[in-house]
Amino acid sequence: MKKATRQQTKTHNTRLVLKTIYENGNISRADIARTTRLTRPTVSTIVADLMAEDLVTEVGQGPSAGGKRPTLLAVDHDAYRLLCVDLGAQEFRGALIDLQGEIGQRLYLPTNNQKGETALQLVYQMIDNLMEVTPLPILGIGIGTPGIIDTHEGIIYEAVNLGWRDLPLQTLLQARYDLPVHLANDSQAAALGELVFGHGDKASNMVLVKVGSGISAGIVLHGRIFAGDNFSPGEIGHQTVLNGNKPCTCGRQGCLETVASSRAVLEGAAAIIQSQPDSILAQLATNAPELTLDLVLQAFAAGDTAVQSLIAEVGKYLGTAVANLASILNIQHMIIGGQVARFGEPLLAAIRHEVNQQVLGRIAENTHIELNSLGSDMVIMGAAAMVLSRELGVV
Ligand SMILES: [Zn+2]
Repeated sequence: MKKATRQQTKTHNTRLVLKTIYENGNISRADIARTTRLTRPTVSTIVADLMAEDLVTEVGQGPSAGGKRPTLLAVDHDAYRLLCVDLGAQEFRGALIDLQGEIGQRLYLPTNNQKGETALQLVYQMIDNLMEVTPLPILGIGIGTPGIIDTHEGIIYEAVNLGWRDLPLQTLLQARYDLPVHLANDSQAAALGELVFGHGDKASNMVLVKVGSGISAGIVLHGRIFAGDNFSPGEIGHQTVLNGNKPCTCGRQGCLETVASSRAVLEGAAAIIQSQPDSILAQLATNAPELTLDLVLQAFAAGDTAVQSLIAEVGKYLGTAVANLASILNIQHMIIGGQVARFGEPLLAAIRHEVNQQVLGRIAENTHIELNSLGSDMVIMGAAAMVLSRELGVV
């Protein structure tokens, strides 16, 4: 018992020292002792261990405070790479990231709608290929994937788009690569990524509503992903918002995804092309091989009023969802991300307007709704934050 306690204290102190160096950049052993309130000899022993692991390095000397000039320490951001993967439905995105969160090499693999075992083989291919391009040791593998994920055990209970059910991905990857593996739902990962590397600004709570072909909200509380009681918090995409009979992929009717997802935007755009052949969108579409979100964005930017009303309508529905989240959670930082967030400020204005209409003035005033700042990297940056947090405790 005694030994376990000593070990725990040592781990705690090591993480504290490493986090202090990580956050402060160039810092002397004396300043680390002052900041952490650990003794000088304890700090020196821990620093020696961290230097032996190549995580910390001496980077020069600071100004003298009267006596000898102190040696400054910093985290060696190139000591390890974080191998991060975003398992999107259409495309797997992978990256090697340094300890500071700088993306180095990237890799994209189209999924071509592969599911089940073949989709799993594609995950292996992604990781194999990324490992081949770096000589540096990998600290851990971080993965964000749509679906209901047991973040603690690393089991994917259900990922409909990839055809996975009860897949023990963490165990499979640990056995294959002999590395720590951390898994989270993609919206949850994105929220953590935004908190640590984006809009977070030292905040500890954040909600990120990811609006792509599906819609879900990732919630971070006290700097940690909130997993709910059954790993499915923020699954707002299949809440009924319409009384009308608009069929949803889940088999039910009138879900939020039927009116505010990227799929809903494309359906609305197709209807505009049908009913308004003179619209900018219809003109653009005649010369295009297929109707894509890029095309709708182009028409939107060119001032197509029908597309503008469509996006205002999408913003209204999303605004209701955000208003509900704001009322329940009282979290100041609410971020809108995903493909549909590319409609930018006008979409955001519609969302903010709706929130102002639907919640108490005081709550609306204190709720800051912004577009995500990491773009399509939000999930892989969240995966990086997850590995840094769980392996090193520095974020
Ligand atoms: Zn549904």
